[in-house]
Amino acid sequence: MSVSQSLQSLRDRLRASDRMPVVFLGHGNPMNAIEDSVYARSWSDLGRTLPRPQAILVVSAHWMTRGTTLVDVSAMPRIIHDFYGFPQQLFDQDYTAMGNPALARDVVALLSSHHAQEDETWGLDHGAWTVLKHLYPDADVPVFQLSIDMSRDFDWHLDIGKTLSELRDRGVLILGSGNIVHNLGALSRSKTPPEFALEFDTRFADRLTDRDFAALADRKGMGSLLHQAHPSVDHYLPALTIAGASDERDRLAFMTNGFDLGSVSMRSFVFHT
Ligand code: ZN
Repeated sequence: MSVSQSLQSLRDRLRASDRMPVVFLGHGNPMNAIEDSVYARSWSDLGRTLPRPQAILVVSAHWMTRGTTLVDVSAMPRIIHDFYGFPQQLFDQDYTAMGNPALARDVVALLSSHHAQEDETWGLDHGAWTVLKHLYPDADVPVFQLSIDMSRDFDWHLDIGKTLSELRDRGVLILGSGNIVHNLGALSRSKTPPEFALEFDTRFADRLTDRDFAALADRKGMGSLLHQAHPSVDHYLPALTIAGASDERDRLAFMTNGFDLGSVSMRSFVFHT
């Protein structure tokens, strides 16, 4: 099925839903914010397809904390240009959505068992705004971020998603942004991804389809393949949180797949009722 066909069928199915879908997007290269690409177009299409959210909670690979989960409670999250070596045009980008401090504080309370705390310093890193620019180009939906606690193991991140899932009935779009394979040391211009990348990506998709989340969180079971696909697991954790926020009522739809620069999987998916 082509990208446009799968988006069309998603569009047909999502309209009737009250419960918000949960979405994981492979964000890849920050240039996707300003360049036309199959990924950028798929994010634009998705934004027009999803039921309109009251607010967006973003779990981005680029906000890493240790020992706590921070929630941005600022009224107007600042945009963060957290990269270097890119054209000035990318540094000139802005995204001026409001935050939602009341809801963000509810999320802190909801995640009290996960040591959540308020934060007013972060804002929107490029894992968030480079995709939001296409999803909601008018920046007219309140948005705030949640950090990933790098000191915790994988099942913790699944459990965060499960705990957050009640927000889906309050019109909140939970959006994970990372990459299913993310090995920047193995970047190449080759059209053919390395074997480890294909294998990890395919295994992930199969286990997600089977709802075998325990296998997705089984660090030992993945062995050395995990380290090859993720020398650091920051881009993997948001996918676990999104999987954890799904339940048996949801159907799974994959959006884009494929690889950017050889070793960055752009696989994206939506769980929806
Ligand atoms: Zn990234």
